[in-house]
Amino acid sequence: MTDSLCSCCQLFGKPRARVNFIILAGAPDSVVYQRIKYLLQNYQNTNLSTQDTSLTNYDTLMTISSHSFDLQNQTSPIDSSTMSSTDKCCHGYFRLPFCIDDASNPTEWETFQKSILDLLNAKMDENVEERSTNVEPASWVLLHGSICLEPELLNVFIKLKDQILTMVTYTFTVLGLLVSEQQLFENWLCRNLAIENYQNTTYPEYEKRNHAFFSLLNSSKYLQENTLLVEENKDLTDNKLEALLKNVFQHDMSNYRAVNHQLRSDMERLLRPRHRTARDIRSVRGNLQASYQKNGKNQLESLLNCLKRPETAANAARQVVHLLLDEFSRLNKEQRRAYKRQLLCGFEPSDPENSNTITAQLVHYALRLLQNYEETTIPFLYSIIMVICETANHFFFRHELFNHTPEIYTLSMLLVSQRHYALTLGGLHLCSKILNADQNEHKYASAYLTHDPLTARKILDAIKWLLSPYLELGKLWNEEDEKKASSE
Ligand SMILES: [Zn+2]
Repeated sequence: MTDSLCSCCQLFGKPRARVNFIILAGAPDSVVYQRIKYLLQNYQNTNLSTQDTSLTNYDTLMTISSHSFDLQNQTSPIDSSTMSSTDKCCHGYFRLPFCIDDASNPTEWETFQKSILDLLNAKMDENVEERSTNVEPASWVLLHGSICLEPELLNVFIKLKDQILTMVTYTFTVLGLLVSEQQLFENWLCRNLAIENYQNTTYPEYEKRNHAFFSLLNSSKYLQENTLLVEENKDLTDNKLEALLKNVFQHDMSNYRAVNHQLRSDMERLLRPRHRTARDIRSVRGNLQASYQKNGKNQLESLLNCLKRPETAANAARQVVHLLLDEFSRLNKEQRRAYKRQLLCGFEPSDPENSNTITAQLVHYALRLLQNYEETTIPFLYSIIMVICETANHFFFRHELFNHTPEIYTLSMLLVSQRHYALTLGGLHLCSKILNADQNEHKYASAYLTHDPLTARKILDAIKWLLSPYLELGKLWNEEDEKKASSE
């Protein structure tokens, strides 16, 4: 019956209490939180590669489309909230949004504590007549960030046991994902700031938090029992992370339990200070970039070759879609930069001119899909358009694509001329990416006009069509108004 379990229950097992807090306390600027959030939500789907519609909100767009353009055809989709609650394994997953601007301000922590108590007491409010699903707290509640190392935050959970919570049982688990100084520095590097920022802000702030965290941890047996300590570094691969999370709520985690004195002192010593100079930045950044370029190249070169062959193009395009729209959120900025450079510029200086790049090949492939228009491939086509738009965010390298691949003008014009909600919107999105890429000389506005003198007309027509339901509504409103006026 694993099918009926949600992603979290498949990963963690059945919830031990009614509400289970997962507190990810770690370094600032780390992508590990994104990786964990992804696992929590997609554990059951991690091996599925056919979810491009869910990556782009294509379904939502088409629902809007059918509501706006197709008023007669109102077949409402099955409402998931009417599903009986006995079918559910738990009360779901929730990422608790909270914002502490100033960790030294007690008022902010009082508000935070109140929000946790409200969450646990939500179910007690029996007077609420129409109990919508969000009145009941979720079974799995996630909090994350470097702020979670703060004793004020952890104390809220430690003190919970003294509160009177009549209805709701809870557990909390702190997963301390601690980094060494080197790792902290590498995380920080992506932010493109002066070294003074690291020396005066990032390191001292994390060091202070880390120190405060360990003094609280060393003094509270209760916190130790609920805390796991893990070093976050390059060895913490997706597989290891998954294995770790699978065991978070199991008992055989003695290697990571904070009750172990030796482990605590080893983990505390991870962050030994190190003097860093501007030269260190250059060399560390250089090494990191080289390794990112190399990893990217290995993957992208074979994808490019597959994209060029008709029989393998679809599969390769799908892999690029997943890389850009799914995996990108779990890569750091430097890694994304390395990918974007190769996606837009290829591997040799002459590649862009010869359309020997992944984005140029994606444009060609999208044109082929559009020319062999088939209803079933439209969501896939739309996700490819979103990928082209996403890569075209790169401030410099996008010009390589716009200057050397005139087919992108054909593609965007064909898209805006479709009377298909998602494709028209995708086309307009692409047009605006191209037109806004050069706002000083409006180079691409001239490029468009040379390519197709009717460009402006086509764009205006598309916008008029998108607004047509609104005009229709206006007409209906006026008719109703007149009817009312004549009956009075
Ligand atoms: Zn569940």
